[in-house]
Amino acid sequence: MLRTHTCGALRIEDVNTEVTLSGWVQKIRDKGGLIWIDLRDRYGITQLLLEEGRTGEQLIATARTLGREYVIKATGTVIERVSKNPKMATGDIEIDVVDIEVLSQSKVPPFTIEDNTDGGEELRMKYRYLDLRRNPLKNNLELRHRLSIETRKYLDSEGFLEIETPYLIKSTPEGARDFVVPSRIHEGEFYALPQSPQTFKQLLMVAGYDRYYQLVKCFRDEDLRADRQPEFTQIDCEMAFVEQEDILSTFEGMVKHLFKTVKGIDIEPLERMPYEKAMKLYGSDKPDIRFGMQFVELNDVAQNKGFNVFDQAELVVGINAEGCAAYTRKQLDKLTDFVRRPQVGAKGLVYVKYNEDGSFKSSVDKFFSQDDLKSWTGKFDAKPGDLLLVLSGEADKVRKQLNELRLEMGTRLELRDPSVYKPLWVVDFPLLEWNEDNNRYQAMHHPFTAPKPEDINMLDTDPGKVRANAYDLVINGVEIGGGSIRIHNRELQKRMFGILGFTDEEAQNQFGFLMNAFEYGAPPHGGIALGFDRLAAMFAGQDSIREFIAFPKNNAGRDVMIDSPSTISNEQLTELHLQVVKEEK
Ligand code: ASP
Repeated sequence: MLRTHTCGALRIEDVNTEVTLSGWVQKIRDKGGLIWIDLRDRYGITQLLLEEGRTGEQLIATARTLGREYVIKATGTVIERVSKNPKMATGDIEIDVVDIEVLSQSKVPPFTIEDNTDGGEELRMKYRYLDLRRNPLKNNLELRHRLSIETRKYLDSEGFLEIETPYLIKSTPEGARDFVVPSRIHEGEFYALPQSPQTFKQLLMVAGYDRYYQLVKCFRDEDLRADRQPEFTQIDCEMAFVEQEDILSTFEGMVKHLFKTVKGIDIEPLERMPYEKAMKLYGSDKPDIRFGMQFVELNDVAQNKGFNVFDQAELVVGINAEGCAAYTRKQLDKLTDFVRRPQVGAKGLVYVKYNEDGSFKSSVDKFFSQDDLKSWTGKFDAKPGDLLLVLSGEADKVRKQLNELRLEMGTRLELRDPSVYKPLWVVDFPLLEWNEDNNRYQAMHHPFTAPKPEDINMLDTDPGKVRANAYDLVINGVEIGGGSIRIHNRELQKRMFGILGFTDEEAQNQFGFLMNAFEYGAPPHGGIALGFDRLAAMFAGQDSIREFIAFPKNNAGRDVMIDSPSTISNEQLTELHLQVVKEEK
C-alpha cells in the first residue's frame, strides 16, 4: 500500500497508529542526532522524525540522500510532538519512521516550492507543474472547482441542462478574430474555434431545450493585453420564453448562491442601473459601487464666469473626495499628474477645498468668488473638510477621465476593499456603437441582440439612439458577464445584418443556418455568459486570471512550458494544403 493517510490527515487522536504516508520532501533538517523531514502532498504537511541510535543506521543513511521534492513513501508510528506547532493542522504529531522508500528522485527545483517563492513569473510558467505544487495556486484551483460545482448545482436545480456544443465550427462574430483550424480532408477550407457558443445555444432554444448551460472554453484571437487569455472559460447560458427580467432574476439567484455557498456572504438585491445613468454618475459602464463619490455636473454654476477653459467645455463635472481638504500642494500636484498621464488624458485638474473654517480655497480663485464656490459645494452636499476635484471638456472624454480619477481616489482612500462585494446589473445598453475606423455602426453586444421594441422605429432614422435589451453583470468595477434578449425573427435579424454592413448574400452565407432556423418556430429567448476565470479571481479578491487557470498562456499568448505556438513539419503543412516553408540554408 502506498499510503494509509494523506499528509494533512493525522491528529493527536491518531497517536500510536501505524501509518504509511507518501509525498514530496518539502524540507529536511539534520541536527546531528535528529533528522526531521517535512512531507507534503495536496492535503498538507506531516513531520517525519528519525533519531540516530533509535532509527536504523541504513534508514538514517537513506534519509541523508534525500533532496527537496524527492517522492518518498514513509512508514512509522504516530507520536506526540515534544514542541508542537499550532500553525499546522498536523502540528501536534510527528511520525517516528521505521522505513523510507524512495519512489522518485528530483533534481533541485528551479525555484522554491513555498507560498512565497523566489521564482520569477516566466520561470514558474515554464515549470508550471512545480508552481502548481504551491499552496496559493492549489487554493485557487480548489476555489475554481468549488465554484464550478456550485454553479452546476444551482443551474441543475433551476432545470438547466448542460449541453456541449462543438469546438470545430465556423466564425461567430463577437468582436474578436477567430482562431482557425485548417481542414486536411477539405482542401483550402477551415474550421473556426468558437468565440462563444452563441449561435448554437440559440439553435438549442429553437430545438426546445429551453434552459441550457455549459461551462465552456471560448477562443478569441485578440491583440495581447495584460491579463487576457486567448482561451478562457465561460458559464454560458440561454433561456427560452423569457423576458429580460426573468434572466436577471435567475442569474441574480446564481450570484447569490455562489457567494453564499462558496464565500458565506449574503449579497443584497442587485441594483439595475441603466447604462445612461452609469455613464452620467460614474463615467463607466462598469461602475464600482463599493463607494459613492458620484459625479456632479457643474455647467450651470461654473460656466460664464470668465474662466475660459470651463466656458468652452461641453461638460464641467466633478467628484467630492470627502475629508480631503487638508491635502497638501504636493498631494494635489500628484493628482494633477495622474489625470495628465496619457492613459487618462486630461489637460488639468481644478480643485476646491472646503476648509474646516467654512472658507473655500480653489485653484481657480481668480475667476470664482467665495459665493460661487459655495454654490459648487452645495451641489455636492459637501461638508467642511471636503475636497472637490473638477474636470472639464468633451462630455464622453471627460467622463472617462473622471472615472479614472474616481477609481484612483477610491483606491487611495481605501474605499475599494477586496473583501466587500457589490454586484449590480447595468441594463439598457445601446444596441449599436459607432466604429471610427470602419466608419459604420457595429453591434455593441453582438449582432443577435434584440433592440428594445419601443426603440425599433428609430432603427433607420437614429440608430445610435436605439437601446437594446442587453445587460451586464458588474462586480466591484469589473464586467463579469453580459447577455441580451435575442432577435428571434428572420426579417429583423436580416435587417440587423444590413445595418451592420452585411450584404444580404454575406448574411445568408455566414448566418443562413440561424435565419433559416428562425423560420421553423423560434421561441423568444435570451441569455448570458459569465467569465468563469475572472469570477474565480474575483472570489479570491485577486486581479490576475492566470493564477486561476491550471495551464495558462503568458502575456504574449505563449505556453512557454510546452512551447506553443510552434512550427509544424513540412509533411503536416502539405497534408493540410498549406504552403510548405523551405528551410533556409
Ligand atoms: N455570447 C455572449 C458573450 O460571449 C454572451 C451572451 O450574449 O450570452 O459575451
